Amino acid sequence: MLIYDLTLEELSQFLGEHQFKKYRAEQVWHWLYRHKITDFSEMNNVPAELIDLLKAHFHLHALDLVVKHESVDGTLKCLYALHDDHLIESVLMKQHYGNSICVTTQIGCNIGCSFCASGQLKKKRDLTAGEIIAQVIETERELKERISYIVVMGIGEPFDNYEQLLKFLKIANHPKGLAIGARHITVSTSGIVPKIKEYAHFPKQVNLAVSLHAPNNDIRTQLMKINKAYPVEEVIEAIRYYGQQTKRRVTIEYILIDNINDMDHVAVELAALLKGMNVYVNLIPYNEVIEAPYKRSKPEQQLRFYDLLMKHKIKATLRKEQGHDINAACGQLRSQHL
Ligand code: SAH
Ligand code: SF4
Repeated sequence: MLIYDLTLEELSQFLGEHQFKKYRAEQVWHWLYRHKITDFSEMNNVPAELIDLLKAHFHLHALDLVVKHESVDGTLKCLYALHDDHLIESVLMKQHYGNSICVTTQIGCNIGCSFCASGQLKKKRDLTAGEIIAQVIETERELKERISYIVVMGIGEPFDNYEQLLKFLKIANHPKGLAIGARHITVSTSGIVPKIKEYAHFPKQVNLAVSLHAPNNDIRTQLMKINKAYPVEEVIEAIRYYGQQTKRRVTIEYILIDNINDMDHVAVELAALLKGMNVYVNLIPYNEVIEAPYKRSKPEQQLRFYDLLMKHKIKATLRKEQGHDINAACGQLRSQHL
């Protein structure tokens, strides 16, 4: 088992069962998450028997770097192989406010959105919490800098891997773990309604982003077949519920695709749908992929869409692209490699 799969409580329980004092767990975590050791033998203030015990039960190595691409804007994309040879990718973006990593949660994705490269690869398995943690640690090693923001927006649907996602969030946010502030973590979902409601009761202040991509069921079903199970009105209702429970603002993700969801009347319809809600819209110019027929919205239409939302008093941002030259859109490096 991967040692990063254990919460602090689980590790102290394990150590307790093996006649070690529970405070040893915090010591081990200090080595794991502050010193980022690659070998248990590096822990020079713990008994040799404890090191032997850990070596007998756990391993520290989850990911092998296969290729790494760095783009001019500082975006670093790492393709990693897991112990069972599956490939995953993590994208590091240098922002003016700090380093932000986009992590993968599943191998492939069963949601199968028609515009998404990852959605064309059926899910092989879920990642464990430790395998998601390892992406942060390994990429910090490649970068030689600390990562202070996490977006759960790589390959996979995080709410389809809910248990491991919550465990990952706890370890990432724990002051003795990766110690990344909850407000510096964002989870993105394609809109799994029951999970959005469940997540409303998760006690940490982690940000939520929902991939809406359309204001009505006609367009949304064409882009996301999950919309048949959870249509627009139910997604909106779940976002309202989440907002009421948490008092937090939700990010609405909206990729702009040429002549599919970027027309003027669609912007007006979106504004009407979101009126009065505590949300802001993150407009993302679509990244074209070979797996899908869609085209990126024209730059002037991106701006018109943005202006129309603003005119109707809907808060929005138009994302500047990053990593475009190295195919940073989710799943693209991996699908090219395959
Ligand atoms: N499964 C989750 C999180 C991973 S996808 C979700 O769908 O929200 C993260 C974001 O990238 C989603 O908003 C998704 O719609 C978007 N995305 C996927 N493929 C894209 C592409 N080719 N160009 C731009 N955004 C894309
Ligand atoms: Fe899965 Fe998200 Fe891609 Fe849809 S956009 S196929 S949910 S990873």
